Amino acid sequence: MATRLTRLRQLMLTEGIEALWVRQEDNRRYLSGFTGDSGQLLITATEQYLLTDGRFTEQARAEATEFQVVDLGNKPWEQFREVLAAAGVRKLHFEAEHLSYAAYQDFVEQLRDWQQPLNLLPARGLVEKLRLYKDEAELDLIQKAVDLADAGFAYLLTIIRPGIRERDLALELEYYLARQGSEGPSFETIIASGPRSALPHGVASERILQPGDLVVMDFGAIYSGYHSDLTRTVALAPVAPEWRRLYNTVLEAQRLGIAAICSGREGREVDAAVRDYISACGYGEYFRHSLGHGVGLAIHEGPTLSSRNENKLAPGMVVTVEPGIYLPGRGGIRIEDVVLVQENGARVLSRSPKEFIEL
Ligand code: ZN
Ligand code: ZN
Repeated sequence: MATRLTRLRQLMLTEGIEALWVRQEDNRRYLSGFTGDSGQLLITATEQYLLTDGRFTEQARAEATEFQVVDLGNKPWEQFREVLAAAGVRKLHFEAEHLSYAAYQDFVEQLRDWQQPLNLLPARGLVEKLRLYKDEAELDLIQKAVDLADAGFAYLLTIIRPGIRERDLALELEYYLARQGSEGPSFETIIASGPRSALPHGVASERILQPGDLVVMDFGAIYSGYHSDLTRTVALAPVAPEWRRLYNTVLEAQRLGIAAICSGREGREVDAAVRDYISACGYGEYFRHSLGHGVGLAIHEGPTLSSRNENKLAPGMVVTVEPGIYLPGRGGIRIEDVVLVQENGARVLSRSPKEFIEL
């Protein structure tokens, strides 16, 4: 945490920010280690405070050992003002993306009666910028979450069969992952079979799996707050030869995407490497989402691999590579891995098999 605070202070210095008010929960956890539901941080050039209430003060002191923990009690604004005064804050930046308009108005209202003037200013994506680069501790936790998802896929292969409901597959998977140590599903589990596999975001439904179905399974685990994200598509026999061909197209597209990743490359260049290949195969219009997204304390965070992202990839970033081809009303295929960006390439963190599996 000390290194994260140092990096944040460097960034604050370059952006001319003397004090930052952090309310977003992932950002709060990232900087302080505090995992409770309620709390906010105040970070100045020399001090760091964690403001919470009586329900969480004990936990906060245990988890956020580098922070001064302040109990906001039942007069939170007054307490906050005292902390701001003690820290000598004249100019306070808030997280523009995460402070609701109502909370902003409340705060401005409070400021009217204060003797000491306070300049309230918006800051964008400051902590998110730091979170783009995962440190060793984070990479360990992400790998554990990825390993759990791999175990989940191996388990799915033992229970998937014609006659089972999508929802039951999802429930069995989630129960299994929880027993293995996952804190919960990374996001609502996607089990999309038969024609539903053409829905890029087909969360598990009442549909019962049939022979000849493609089954897209997209899910993840959470370990110490860190997420994983894995998609595999399998087929239930007998499979039309067309699906096997299409599967290999998606697999090759995904291989190209992973091969295109290295330090210095723009997100949009990696996306284009995959999109151009799928288009050349004649399926361009059936790949309708971006190629990938960052993963960490949030399931979707920066950087994105999309046609719009001009930012350069750098070592320590963790992204998904997830091309898909979806033929409306018929079926779809997606393959997704989590990879770590390195100087000269990408290291694939997930180990689940990717060859065509017909069950
Ligand atoms: Zn996914
Ligand atoms: Zn994903």
